[in-house]
Amino acid sequence: MSAHPDVREVLLTADRIAARVAEMGARISADYRDREPVLVGVLDGAVVFLADLMRALTIPVRVDFVKWSSYREGATSSGAVQLLKDLSLNVEGQHVLVVEDIVDTGLTLRYLLENLETRKVASLAVAALLDKPSRRQVEVQLDYVGFQVPNEFVVGYGLDFAHRYRSLPYVAVLKPEIYGG
Ligand code: IMP
Repeated sequence: MSAHPDVREVLLTADRIAARVAEMGARISADYRDREPVLVGVLDGAVVFLADLMRALTIPVRVDFVKWSSYREGATSSGAVQLLKDLSLNVEGQHVLVVEDIVDTGLTLRYLLENLETRKVASLAVAALLDKPSRRQVEVQLDYVGFQVPNEFVVGYGLDFAHRYRSLPYVAVLKPEIYGG
């Protein structure tokens, strides 16, 4: 299959992602074998990863979503984010596994983890498909990581640039002219 014409380089093929998600699913299933965790997908980017990961699990789960305003697009430069869509489930006493597409500065995840901690959850862990450690501003613990990626803006497999490219089945870097220089 040829890549999208805006793509400069495919970093992770669909096959490689599928193999890694299967491994992550097996590990999570083993770690949570006697529990029924609540998977909390972070909208919008985590939907593709979450859809594949939950089908790679052999344990029962419940699934819920949160959505944050993006400080990247916002007018403020304070790094503050707002909760746009909260959980539907009551997670008090539940084992919560946050499912993220990519952890970059760590700010979004830190807000979410602090927020979830106030709800008296039984346990809290994080599964992230991608980790961009070179950009981290705040320390966050990632319990399950698919791949580390270099300091480049990546798209595909749920990740967007200006709301596009989420449906690409691989993770890629776009041509510089697409990012607008
Ligand atoms: P953080 O708060 O800086 O860790 O960024 C988290 C969010 O920013 C992710 O959930 C993504 O939605 C978005 N993001 C960060 N890096 C990238 C990237 O390389 N491509 C697409 N989205 C990204």
